[in-house]
Amino acid sequence: MKNYEYFNTLLPQMIGQKEGAIAPQITPSAAFGYGSAEEAEAIFSGEMAKPLYARMGNPTGAKLETVLATMEEGGGAVVTSSGMAAITMVLTALLEHGDKVLCIGGFFGGTYALMHETMPRFGIEGLFCGVDDFGKIEEALQQGVKMVLCESVGNPNLKLPDLRRIADLCNRYRALFMVDNTVTPLIVQPLRMGADLVIYSTTKIISGHSAALGGAVIFRAIEESDEKLLDPKFSSIHPFLKKGKGAMMAILKKRAMRDFGMSANAFASFLTLLGLETLPLRVKRVNENVEKVVQLLYEAGIQVRHPSLKNHEHHQRYQELFADGCGPVVTIECGTRQKAFAFLNASRMVTQTANIGDNRTLGLHMASTIYRDFSQEDKKILGITDGLVRLSIGLESPQKLVDDMVQAWQIAMR
Ligand code: PLP
Repeated sequence: MKNYEYFNTLLPQMIGQKEGAIAPQITPSAAFGYGSAEEAEAIFSGEMAKPLYARMGNPTGAKLETVLATMEEGGGAVVTSSGMAAITMVLTALLEHGDKVLCIGGFFGGTYALMHETMPRFGIEGLFCGVDDFGKIEEALQQGVKMVLCESVGNPNLKLPDLRRIADLCNRYRALFMVDNTVTPLIVQPLRMGADLVIYSTTKIISGHSAALGGAVIFRAIEESDEKLLDPKFSSIHPFLKKGKGAMMAILKKRAMRDFGMSANAFASFLTLLGLETLPLRVKRVNENVEKVVQLLYEAGIQVRHPSLKNHEHHQRYQELFADGCGPVVTIECGTRQKAFAFLNASRMVTQTANIGDNRTLGLHMASTIYRDFSQEDKKILGITDGLVRLSIGLESPQKLVDDMVQAWQIAMR
């Protein structure tokens, strides 16, 4: 069991201030005055750590970055305008035209489209394989793939990767390993498992309130003598390595944030900090709720899919590697689009929206919304069927949720 007490103490204590206003400060200024021409020069050269201009970051975002880096035991963090912006930041800062990214397992529709359609337009190719295709994974790494990307839990296909094994392979072949940990903050700590970069859509359970769009990149501590990054395939970032501990921050900010402007705004960072204060309590409650709801829906004869069930292909991995649970996502197979619509429309508790990780229980028919423009082949890869409903379980009473879903299922199956 995770030491939630540690995080219950760490997060509110770090986010709150002991003097003056105890809530985090919002600094909404887009520009910042410099004390002198000399100071301006020092800020621009990176010798002085003071705000430069909000596209490069602002003090509220910097506070959030410090908290997230501590939570993940990382070397630093950069917050962004959205989760997609965080992924884009890593790709555009660290890769070049002609590079390949190995994408393992299931993906949120936006990430799949980014890797499958958008990045290829700029010469960066996404290669796709299943979570257990270790033959293909090793082959791609042997051929010089520069980066590997996977979600800690496939959203919504709920496949569970063996992150440690993938990290070991990436380290052996000197490929960067980026994990999208949006669904499992605190539950999974990818940097401790050997990953190089963690990204979050903080819009989800980190905030919990659906009031702030945001994202974050958190990276492992690197040194000037970093063996992996000194590999010739990373030669374009070698000039940054002389900055030592500050190198990854400089790479992300100078090669992505400065030029593409995927910057977080201060108000969103403030709202995200408020969510973070109660994250451990909510993660624990959601995981407990998910296991109860899934079990009761299963017993009621509903076609529910989740790794906590014995019939799931990754049940054993769930027990071994996800002892605390695997976050809020659960799926229900209704058989047809009509039945899925009827189920969602008959539920009184499920809020139909394209988000997950909210304090409320959310639901969405996948094929007609996020995946509506995807080809049959792509939907097959991602496990999207006509009758698939994704649920994101919230903080409510699990029994009340089950009662509601059972009555909705009965109406849908009439
Ligand atoms: N990663 C995952 C796993 C997601 O579910 C989402 C959004 O649904 C994203 C990334 C993108 O995040 P955002 O909507 O904040 O851009």
